[in-house]
Amino acid sequence: MYLITVIPIARGINVDELTYLSPSQISPGSLIGVPLRKKTIKAIVLSADDAKKQKMAIKSSTFLLKKVDTLVKRKFLSDWQIGVIKKLSKYHASSEGAVIFSLINKKILESSISFDNFKNIEIPKKPSHLAFEGTSKFRLEEYIKIIKNNLRNNQSTIILCPTLDSIQKLESLLAKIELKSNTISFQNKKTKRQILLNAERIINNENLIILTTGSFLFLIPENTGTLIIEEENSRWYKMQSRPFLNFVKASEEVSDILNLNVVYGDILLRCETYEKTKKIQKEKIIKKDITILTSKKVKEDPHKNQPYKALNKEIEESIKKAISKKTGNVKVFIWSVRKGFAPIVLCLHCGATVMCENCDSPVVLYKKTTDPYLLCHHCGAKRSALEKCKKCQSWKLDSFGIGIERIQEEVNDKFKNNLDLIKTGTEKDVYAGDETYYNLAVVPSIDSLLSIPDFDIDERLFRTILIIKEKTKEIIIQTKYNDLPLLQYIKNFDTNEFHKDRLNKRKQFGYGPYKVLIKITVRGKKETVISEMNELKANLIKWKPTVFPAFIKTVKNQFILHLLLKLPADEWPDDELVAYLQSLPPSFEINVEPYTLL
Ligand SMILES: [Zn+2]
Ligand SMILES: [Zn+2]
Repeated sequence: MYLITVIPIARGINVDELTYLSPSQISPGSLIGVPLRKKTIKAIVLSADDAKKQKMAIKSSTFLLKKVDTLVKRKFLSDWQIGVIKKLSKYHASSEGAVIFSLINKKILESSISFDNFKNIEIPKKPSHLAFEGTSKFRLEEYIKIIKNNLRNNQSTIILCPTLDSIQKLESLLAKIELKSNTISFQNKKTKRQILLNAERIINNENLIILTTGSFLFLIPENTGTLIIEEENSRWYKMQSRPFLNFVKASEEVSDILNLNVVYGDILLRCETYEKTKKIQKEKIIKKDITILTSKKVKEDPHKNQPYKALNKEIEESIKKAISKKTGNVKVFIWSVRKGFAPIVLCLHCGATVMCENCDSPVVLYKKTTDPYLLCHHCGAKRSALEKCKKCQSWKLDSFGIGIERIQEEVNDKFKNNLDLIKTGTEKDVYAGDETYYNLAVVPSIDSLLSIPDFDIDERLFRTILIIKEKTKEIIIQTKYNDLPLLQYIKNFDTNEFHKDRLNKRKQFGYGPYKVLIKITVRGKKETVISEMNELKANLIKWKPTVFPAFIKTVKNQFILHLLLKLPADEWPDDELVAYLQSLPPSFEINVEPYTLL
């Protein structure tokens, strides 16, 4: 008999290792099925020892030793992959099983692919780190130089992408330039058969260009020359739920261990990349093509009965001019940072903001349908908009702020004969792979984003504006915060000064890349949450924790508290702290380097 130690692969299992008995020896890295709570789950073998020698361990083991009988794949992971998994689970203070579950796509686990046929660690060399900052056209040109150079040297290139959209966009662009036959892609929509066929091309040692999302990152050809992290500043690289894995981090660990050359690319690099990468190439932007008018917004006064306008006279005139130009099919794009008709509903009588009844966040008014309704964007609760003020019983409720429906209503009203020339859209439309080029883009209300008190909001906003800029000749931004430094950087398209400014502030206030932030969230009944948080705070006191309520304190009747730790970057992962965090029950949500602190 052999004593088998395995990592169970499942999101919900909070243990790192389980022990079983096996009649035969199974080599480390094998994928096996093991019984757990009346089910069979998949697991990766870490070690197999002769049970006779391990008698003491068996006696003292608290696990019920069950027999393993289902061998799925004799060899599945290679040693370096187990190494990456261990490093990532430490870094994210998560179980190894949850990391495997996130990093290895379900379809790979279910297929006959074995990573043993893929890249292995080679002789150490000095890999290069490069970064490109500029439009997607500029980045693609640089990537193609690298790809072609790699192909000449019989090497493959991997391009990691954040979303299916960006894979499809790159795929169509590469197809246009005689690289189609070398290009393969791995993403969620592929069938198991397609994945297998592509994997076979890797095993056959073809020279390839591989477009992939994070959960296929381990499918690395033996002849890989470069790993490109495209749109490296995209928020979609960070998982939205446990274990909150960051795929940029994952790909950095992979290239570290395999000595791959790494290339970062984005229209606005992360300031972490800006700080650590010595070779950054920036696109020269021709400034004369870009005009940003920062026009003052009409003062909003709930007590004056003037209808509130999203598009003022100046904007209206610019839209007319843009429409009259000969170029382009759709000529104007209007970006609304908010959905719905209006993000705020107020009582004109007592001044109260109309709130969600389920959680305490302001509701958004929707008027698209014949029955206007109030929708909560935090918990999804919906109710009719025909109501009195809950505080003073007045019927004088009115809506403020600019949502996309309000913009569309004004467009319908002012440009009835040219509706097909003007497109309105939200963030989702900005990031969609659509390649329309506009004469003019308008951002009527950037202010509701600028007022969000989050540490990364400037970077997010700047990046979105730059992406809009790629699609248009001219941008008009309407804001009442004319003097904000951010708007000056945007106006001058000065990413250099922006990065320097951001890095200074991040150093001063203790954020990445200087500090590693760890956010721990607890939700539930108020008293329970408070007492659990107090206990956690006491246990973590050595690391100077701060406890604060979530931006929206209650969601779906659950009270939410966050605890924040800030550690000097070179002190993370800290063994003692990692071990403690990994021992916490799953009701403590641990997010290392969170995307938001709200
Ligand atoms: Zn009222
Ligand atoms: Zn709500």
